[in-house]
Amino acid sequence: MSNISLRILKGKLLHMGTLITTGVMALGSSNMPALAGNGDFGPSNPFYAPSTLPFQAPPFDKIKDSDYQPAIEAGMAQQREEVRAIADNPAPPTFENTFVALEKSGQLFNRVLQVFTGVTGANLNPELQKVQDIEAPRFAAHQDAIVLDSKLFQRMATIYNERHSLNLDAESLRLVEYDYQQFVHAGAKLSDADKAELKKLNEEESTLTNSFTTKLLAATKDAAFVTTDKNALAGMSATRLEGAVQSAKERKVDGYVIPLQNTTQQPDLGVLAVRSTRQTIFENSWNRAERGGANDTREIIARLAQLRARKAKLLGYSNYAAWKLEDQVAKTPEAALKFMDELVPGATTKAAVEAKDIQAVIDGQKGGFQLQPWDWDIYAEQVRKAKYDLDEAQIKPYFELNNVLQNGVFYAANLLYGITFKERTDIPVYQPDVRVFEVFDADGKPLALWYCDYFKRDNKNGGAWMDVFVNQSKLLGQLPVVFNVANFSKPAPGQPALISFRDVTTMFHEFGHALHGMFSNTTYPTLSGTQVARDFVEFPSQFNEHWATYPAVFDHYAKHYQTGAPMPAELAAKIKRAEKFNQGYSLTEIVAAAELDMQWHTLPASAPLQKPDEFEVQALKKTHLWISYVPPRYRSSYFSHIWSTGYAAGYYAYLWSEMLDDAAYQWFEEHGGLTRANGDRLRQMVLSRGNTEELGKMYATWLGKEPTIEPMLKDRGLLPEGTAK
Ligand SMILES: [Zn+2]
Repeated sequence: MSNISLRILKGKLLHMGTLITTGVMALGSSNMPALAGNGDFGPSNPFYAPSTLPFQAPPFDKIKDSDYQPAIEAGMAQQREEVRAIADNPAPPTFENTFVALEKSGQLFNRVLQVFTGVTGANLNPELQKVQDIEAPRFAAHQDAIVLDSKLFQRMATIYNERHSLNLDAESLRLVEYDYQQFVHAGAKLSDADKAELKKLNEEESTLTNSFTTKLLAATKDAAFVTTDKNALAGMSATRLEGAVQSAKERKVDGYVIPLQNTTQQPDLGVLAVRSTRQTIFENSWNRAERGGANDTREIIARLAQLRARKAKLLGYSNYAAWKLEDQVAKTPEAALKFMDELVPGATTKAAVEAKDIQAVIDGQKGGFQLQPWDWDIYAEQVRKAKYDLDEAQIKPYFELNNVLQNGVFYAANLLYGITFKERTDIPVYQPDVRVFEVFDADGKPLALWYCDYFKRDNKNGGAWMDVFVNQSKLLGQLPVVFNVANFSKPAPGQPALISFRDVTTMFHEFGHALHGMFSNTTYPTLSGTQVARDFVEFPSQFNEHWATYPAVFDHYAKHYQTGAPMPAELAAKIKRAEKFNQGYSLTEIVAAAELDMQWHTLPASAPLQKPDEFEVQALKKTHLWISYVPPRYRSSYFSHIWSTGYAAGYYAYLWSEMLDDAAYQWFEEHGGLTRANGDRLRQMVLSRGNTEELGKMYATWLGKEPTIEPMLKDRGLLPEGTAK
């Protein structure tokens, strides 16, 4: 698929639990809308020509909010003309005049879209929001216009069929096979009648998805816990109580309001002392979208599962997951299901041990009740305190942000890959908190630009992510311009930014994505950097997290911000031990959600409309995950990831990536740990290669074997005692 279409499909690198609402769904939901005239787009627009700044960095000093929309519209129009010319070319199709030409198309659109999505995600304002609302549906239509162009596809198919006799290099061959598969995947091979049918199903899916989002939002709002009795909230901190008062004021009700988060478990359940309050909040959460009435989502999800199965059948697959996983590392739902089945015993056995510890605390306090899901967090917290006694206030002075960055994140990357960093204050930024670094390769050559935007702002999406402003491509002569965004608390002016260990891990994580983008050394933009399968993309980032606790790195950055003293050994050991806490519960709830997702999306087209509650219980029982004290992280009726934000048949990917990263780290441990030789080998064989080879093969070649789940279980502390190496 042409680089731009793929980019739209891919979206940002999301974290577990993070939702985007701006994501554009695959395959058209509407007719091509009329585009506004491009009369106001010309050389004065900063996107008109490639940036003349180093690395073609976005000229944020010149870009005005009003520049985006005309550039986006002109960019789409230009790409459609370019694609039209490729499809209508009277010359016989060649790799150059079709695939390479497609790769070269859409450069203006890419240039503006990358910056636009970057800025709207991290620094939104009402004007940009308006542009986003208008343009987002047009991106989907733009993509359809390319992917469902039958003349274009005919040319691609001709080359695809001759590909082995064309003397193509490996990356070019991969491009042909990858693009062809993406087009087929989107329905390019269907007859006109089937295309029309697919379009109808897509439209219904899009309508249902929107309706699901709207209902769930309302249902979640309605299910907030409301009380005028302060005693019911015993255990809450003063700040948190103030927040509950604030929420009540916003809703114009008396007393206190505790709104629901998207997950099954709610953060306040970890502190609320009154058991009946906990139970009510939990039940509100669990039943939020199943209360009958206008905001019940069950009918919608049953129909969504059914129509997705029909869509898959139309496209020639036995179920939706089979269609969705074809271009993933797992390849088949059977492989993903087998992988999850293997995780279940280790996860649930450990969860049972954790439950026993918790029950012991309850009994020790003469609680007189059996552990229920709404008791887990508050008693687990007591177990944690007894076992680890970790105090954030004690830890944070050792994690000053800039020190962590320079002496931790950069330091590890320098040891592993030889790269160095120099801050550039002359490159314009979109917001004053943003910092820019030039990254140099081991031989001193410029490698990339890297931006970081670490502090929380009201106009920034939640969570943390990586994306690019400029995608690496040898064909287009582009070096990577990559950015990391996070939401760390901003210190008062003149004060140091002291961050939690969780934040430290986030920095390493996002920088792992950044390395994947910065090391990219591919010819074609479509195959470059982090544009890889969903069950692969979190591998480089999660892998990079391991260096945060690697002794030679940890000791280098974990120093007191005032005295420079290293963190006391006992404290450091506690941090590392605490990483293994509650892992039985947390893996079980994720596997349960991932199983639900996969069970819904492996229904055949012939299956009748399901009753969600019965289906859910059956699905969990079947997989040995129907456990009274560990509910799934999301219940089917409020599982937004799979019904509305693009993770359908994809939730397992977080766990799959984890298997890859832990197996990779074990390989390092077995081969001398953190060394340049090991780093360079990973860079050369994986991190620089984007999507230029089938990813499972690329990975296994590097590892020397297929990955297994043991390193992952070991990392989470889930191997039975005595078997951990
Ligand atoms: Zn990530």
